[in-house]
Amino acid sequence: MENFISKNGKQLITYEKEIKCPYCEKGGFIQLHPKHLKLHNKNVNDVRKEYPEYPTMTIERYNKQMSISEIGGYKTKELIQDSKTKIVECYYKLDDDCSHETKEVEIYAPNGFLCNKCRSLKKESKDGRESDIANIKREKTFMGKYKVRNANQIIK
Ligand SMILES: [Zn+2]
Ligand SMILES: [Zn+2]
Repeated sequence: MENFISKNGKQLITYEKEIKCPYCEKGGFIQLHPKHLKLHNKNVNDVRKEYPEYPTMTIERYNKQMSISEIGGYKTKELIQDSKTKIVECYYKLDDDCSHETKEVEIYAPNGFLCNKCRSLKKESKDGRESDIANIKREKTFMGKYKVRNANQIIK
């Protein structure tokens, strides 16, 4: 199967599982990520111009984006095509025993995650009542600290 140009004309899609960066030969990408290309002061357009033979995205990644954009409509599609990411924090980041880890996720991912430490502390309780109490407690902390009701409102 031959490489082809994405619908928006920006990406060269390959049927290979992985692609590599033309500037540093680093492999294992499913997409030449803007953040990585920035390390070389380049963007996807530069790659297409300077290395027209180099795929910039795998078919798997492309299909995933296309299906997401169909669900999310035009706006989401635009965001995803720009491959924006965001930093999210642990849902329990206000707890003293949280690891306060952050991680980088795609823009459409949830606005928080459960860090390994909090997970190991079994904070994601399946007991409805227990987590209700925890939620109310957390909500109070948030209200006090940030004047908002939950973490999603303060994590951009
Ligand atoms: Zn590179
Ligand atoms: Zn945590």
